[in-house]
Amino acid sequence: MILNRFEKLRRLTSNDIGIDLGTANTLVYVRGTGIVINEPSVVAVNQKTGRVVAVGKTAKQMLGRTPAHIVAVRPIVDGVISDFEVTEEMITYLLNTAQQNNKKLFGPRVVVGVPSGITNVEIRAVRDATRNAGAGEVHIVEEPMAAAIGIRLPVKDPVGSMVIDIGGGTTDIAVISLGGVVRARNLRIAGDKLDDDIISYIRSEFKILIGEKTAENIKIAIGAVLAGEAPLEASVKGRDLVTGLPREVIITDSDIREAISQSIASLVEATREVLETTPPEVLSDIMNRGIYLAGGGALIKGLAELLEEEIKIPVHMAEDPLTSVARGTGIILEDLESFKEVLIQNEDELPYQK
Ligand code: ADP
Ligand code: MG
Repeated sequence: MILNRFEKLRRLTSNDIGIDLGTANTLVYVRGTGIVINEPSVVAVNQKTGRVVAVGKTAKQMLGRTPAHIVAVRPIVDGVISDFEVTEEMITYLLNTAQQNNKKLFGPRVVVGVPSGITNVEIRAVRDATRNAGAGEVHIVEEPMAAAIGIRLPVKDPVGSMVIDIGGGTTDIAVISLGGVVRARNLRIAGDKLDDDIISYIRSEFKILIGEKTAENIKIAIGAVLAGEAPLEASVKGRDLVTGLPREVIITDSDIREAISQSIASLVEATREVLETTPPEVLSDIMNRGIYLAGGGALIKGLAELLEEEIKIPVHMAEDPLTSVARGTGIILEDLESFKEVLIQNEDELPYQK
């Protein structure tokens, strides 16, 4: 690549950073280096002083175990910023950590991914938080667009692409063409909802109360949306709701399937609805090229096959689906000028609202 003098100077004097502010995981990409931070989206705050005491894994370990004045919070809940100040603290922490060894003269150019369907007020909050955290320039991209770019789909071409990004709190379903999101839906059924489904099911079927972390572990270990050849089993420890004492039970993949069936059906239905309103030319591109799955929630076994069966369109799993959005922000940073059209330029002109 031939860089003009101005571009060379800019690279010497400021860093470029991409942020995927997910409901479950926050990733930071530094141009020239790659992903440098990959941590749970949790911040621990000391309520007496108002200061952030820990971010990421350390903060997550504090969840449910903190003294009264330290609270562990998730700044992004259901794809929405739940606490502006905490989000700003989190972004400040991320920018400082990412630039630690490499502070430059000017604030970094930052590309931030936000869920599709986010309101313009929320986008402004992200912009302000990032700017207050020390960014020189802030660019906003919708997460499914960033995911599609991370998967290297031809988002700027006159051809339809479809991405389903299943995260922790939300699922983004988006149809993209000519640099824009043509159709999108954002729903609150994603990885965390499946964990809740498992908790409810085990409570009602086995009369045992289990925690969120346990539910997530079982989901990852034996969750499968289609029955396999051999049944999968896991033993689960929880509190017996009758005696109040600890008890252990064996559950199988078919229990998990039953527990999450409603949520999976809703995901399939939402995908179908998006396709139903997609313009015919774009739809035919998607039928030819297939649908791409991204996000950690998409890793549940058998999901691509099930969707393919239900929708009758090929479904592909993104390579390394947990990092698609972050890698997409990195690709945008490589050539911000040419990706201008895919960024949200002015939140007051958003075509749709939640
Ligand atoms: P977000 O973008 O909202 O931060 P992620 O894309 O990081 O979310 O995905 C987090 C979700 O992915 C969690 O709900 C987690 O339980 C789920 N997940 C991660 N790995 C797997 C797996 N192997 N099987 C099923 N779910 C998984
Ligand atoms: Mg995500």
